[in-house]
Amino acid sequence: MEAQLWKSVRRLAPLQPRFVSVTYGADGSTRERTHAIVHQLSVGMGLTVAPHLTSVGASRRSVLELAARYWDDGIRHLVALRGDAPTGGACNVAAADGFSGSDDLVRGLRMIGNFDLSVAAYPEVHPEARSRKADLEHLKRKIDAGATRAITQFFFDNDAYLRFRDACAGVGIAVSIVPGILPVTRFAQIVRFAAKCGATIPANIAAQFQGLDEDADMRRLVSAAVAINQVEYLRRHGVEEFHFYTLNRADLTYAICHALGLRPRSQYLARRVGFSEAAIAGPV
Ligand SMILES: Cc1cc2nc3c(=O)[nH]c(=O)nc-3n(C[C@H](O)[C@H](O)[C@H](O)COP(=O)(O)OP(=O)(O)OC[C@H]3O[C@@H](n4cnc5c(N)ncnc54)[C@H](O)[C@@H]3O)c2cc1C
Repeated sequence: MEAQLWKSVRRLAPLQPRFVSVTYGADGSTRERTHAIVHQLSVGMGLTVAPHLTSVGASRRSVLELAARYWDDGIRHLVALRGDAPTGGACNVAAADGFSGSDDLVRGLRMIGNFDLSVAAYPEVHPEARSRKADLEHLKRKIDAGATRAITQFFFDNDAYLRFRDACAGVGIAVSIVPGILPVTRFAQIVRFAAKCGATIPANIAAQFQGLDEDADMRRLVSAAVAINQVEYLRRHGVEEFHFYTLNRADLTYAICHALGLRPRSQYLARRVGFSEAAIAGPV
């Protein structure tokens, strides 16, 4: 998986994303490896990296220590998340020495440094939310605590996102609500993810993948078309920033960005590629 990661990075880095986010296992088991990868992406490749940090099941001290390490390493952007308990247990019950929630986490991180802080948002409502209104109020608390951007859970129902964006504006959330775009690799897997996180799969999307379970090539073509249409639709509605969930696979995202007009930046290529090839091939 690590080799695959560096292959993906090498492919996508020349497109110069505003930042590259790196997920984090909520049980903390990938802590050291994640830190090493973040360091390599940032120092070795000159990318702006936004490591994810989760607070569930962790002590305040351990989370803040990790954040301080990132700050000392020159990392200025974090994605602050509560996360899910690995055992599937209750998540909103904070450990005695832990953060009470992701809004509390955002406040704590602010005290470490002046980070750019992204948080998660749920256009189709988080499955644990008491109501749509409670979910929105919770997002507002995260922003009021100092978050600078929200990145959404993936969705295929564009109108649900647009209604959510309006609702955010309606309660005074002024930060950018960046849509999370998930290019479909395996449709059956996406159906499982969607059921878990409450994302709907519109019938017209399901129909496009029907009968393609054993046909990976055709699925990729359809998937690119679906994501390109989605981004174009959102762009027509004024959305200017997109967050791609690459799931460690670069080609689909690259093709989508290419079709949408994004091209490798030549100055990045001149400055970095020789170096990054070596960096990627080397140990991290
Ligand atoms: C962009 C993005 C990146 C992610 N990256 C990771 C990752 O790297 N690692 C990982 O393990 N998981 C990741 N996740 C999944 C995430 O951890 C789960 O969705 C988790 O269940 C919620 O985390 P959160 O920070 O959104 O929680 P929160 O926003 O704090 O809470 C989730 C929901 O619970 C309800 N809630 C919580 N507290 C309160 C309260 N006090 N009062 C009322 N309602 C409340 C709200 O409805 C809220 O939307 C990511 C999700 C997204 C959208």
